[in-house]
Amino acid sequence: MPIREEFRHLEPYGAPQLDVPVALNVNENPYPPSERVVADIAHAVAQAAAGLNRYPDREFLDLRADLAAYLYRESGAILRPEQLWAANGSNEVMLHILQAFGGPGRRALSFAPTYSMYPEYARDTHTEWIVGRREGDFTLDRSKALAAISRHRPSVVLLASPNNPTGTALPIDLIEAIAARTAELGSVLVVDEAYGEFRREGTPSATTLLPSYPNLAVARTMSKAFALAGARLGYLAASNDLINALRVVRLPYHLSAVTQAVARAALRHSEELLSRVGQLRQERDETVHWLHSQGLQAVDSDANFVLFGTFRQRHAVWQSLLDDGVLIRETGPDGWLRVSIGTAAEMAAFKAALEKVLKASE
Ligand code: PMP
Repeated sequence: MPIREEFRHLEPYGAPQLDVPVALNVNENPYPPSERVVADIAHAVAQAAAGLNRYPDREFLDLRADLAAYLYRESGAILRPEQLWAANGSNEVMLHILQAFGGPGRRALSFAPTYSMYPEYARDTHTEWIVGRREGDFTLDRSKALAAISRHRPSVVLLASPNNPTGTALPIDLIEAIAARTAELGSVLVVDEAYGEFRREGTPSATTLLPSYPNLAVARTMSKAFALAGARLGYLAASNDLINALRVVRLPYHLSAVTQAVARAALRHSEELLSRVGQLRQERDETVHWLHSQGLQAVDSDANFVLFGTFRQRHAVWQSLLDDGVLIRETGPDGWLRVSIGTAAEMAAFKAALEKVLKASE
């Protein structure tokens, strides 16, 4: 096939989708929607189905208004519907950013270890990918980060906070300093808050910086805390001008009438869908504590997963857990593994399987 030269021999990105009793590998919310929410979503889909001969609302302003109202409730950000954008997962909204602001002769920059799709957005849009480093404890050094941005003058800077796979959040004053520097340079700053709802109480969301920084975009998703990964709805908040640039590159009618209906119905039940966040946070902190008690390193997390290690042969540990029906993720720096936070029963299965490995290696 006449595939682009740099794509030859590349495997498509994605974690293994295996049928296992305990799936703790892709940071989903383990709690399915209640019967009441399922019924309401089904009703909304039935209504949308009656009009499926027509293309969907291309500007989806009703959904954008609902998302703005949700962000106000969640983080106090005051946004107009025109300041919201959505697509099929936050991966797609961030690809729109690279399509609009990246491209040949331009650069995108982030700091590793971070979300492994970022270099793929860059690759797919012919944007040069520049990767800086986080510190040994996965924090970001302010002066080094600002210096890297000034030196490389990227068109787009991507910062995940809380970060995947480390779980670490960035202090808001550091995000603001980077927003200011990127504004001076005429660059776009994307703060990826896919795991934003799991952040520790009292930590402000980067959405609160939006009024001061028209070059800032804050990406969110309904896939994680919102327990709606299967619906594929990601969104971002930004200035009107930034959103208008994304409207140029989106495909016509990219968000189906069914997706819009499902997302709006789910947003009507946001309180219920998010009701397990507190429990998951607690389970996360307990998991970190338990891993420490086993003599392991575990990174304090603001997300719904924990990076832990280190193992001389992490693949063997991952495989042993899988043999016991527990699927986690082999990702992050050498020697580390990542576990998503599941139900109490799933975490008990994870701990039992890992204890077995640790005993066997004594
Ligand atoms: N950003 C981060 C940091 C993620 O970890 C993920 C999912 N793993 C995404 C974005 C994309 O999620 P989605 O496309 O489901 O919104």
